[in-house]
Amino acid sequence: MAGTDAAQAGTAGDFAGRVALVTGASQGIGRALACGLGGRGAHVVAVARDIAALEALDDAIRAAGGEPPTLVPLDLRDDAGLGRLAQAIGTRWGRLDCFVASAGILGPLTPVCDLEPDALATLLHVNLIANQRLVHRLDPLLRAAPAGRAILLSSSAAWRGRPFWGGYAMTKAALDALGRAWAAETAHTAVRVNLVNPGGTRTAMRAAAMPGEDPLTLPAPEDLVEPLLALLRPDFTETGHIYDFPTRTLQAFRAPA
Ligand code: NDP
Repeated sequence: MAGTDAAQAGTAGDFAGRVALVTGASQGIGRALACGLGGRGAHVVAVARDIAALEALDDAIRAAGGEPPTLVPLDLRDDAGLGRLAQAIGTRWGRLDCFVASAGILGPLTPVCDLEPDALATLLHVNLIANQRLVHRLDPLLRAAPAGRAILLSSSAAWRGRPFWGGYAMTKAALDALGRAWAAETAHTAVRVNLVNPGGTRTAMRAAAMPGEDPLTLPAPEDLVEPLLALLRPDFTETGHIYDFPTRTLQAFRAPA
């Protein structure tokens, strides 16, 4: 698997008729993917807390020729809200074709010995627990689709062991474990689950993490759209891997030598 470039050139309308739930759709990578999916014909279910930003996304998808998305202003820590969301998707469509888990937070960059319990709890809730609760709710809907596809936005921070990034890194390492186990559990179905390392990308999160960096030296979120949409197509059948955008390769997870 390592060394395989997952990116395939797409065509307009190639997501027509598919239902795609995107978290973190109000900004950054999630917003770009929501626009890309909507512009290619998917019905986007866009989840985030910022209502004004979701409304701006609605305008952008319509301007790209897409159908109006379903906007879901929701804090992902609201488990009952996740339940209502999944129930509404089930009632309206009976399935979910694509799940993009892009929402995430950076949390404090600080030594692990100084991480405050509340900050760690929030990091774990948004970056890990909310995604597990979404998997719990959405797995049956993805299995009900002819070719359910999921991508979970992880980070190279998960395995770099970089000082002061421990809080964020532990949530992403756990997300990797979640995604790999879910991929194994669904390998005998039509569902395919992969992780993504986007690499440094020109977003608000990256600017907060690297305030001295010139953002124009980084890829824009829109640059990730084609390669990541390739992972969501029915003809993409690999599962349990991580797509590394900086090298444009689909990689297997390896135990340390
Ligand atoms: P941004 O900070 O730009 O966007 C984060 C998104 O998450 C926003 O849409 C925000 O929406 C949403 N979000 C945060 N908290 C909550 C919450 N409690 N409930 C609902 N939604 C929430 O992040 P990026 O686009 O930069 O990152 C996307 C993903 O990629 C993340 O998982 C990140 O960890 C990962 N990543 C990013 C890198 C980068 O360089 N940018 C590098 C490596 C990984 P709202 O505030 O409206 O709720």
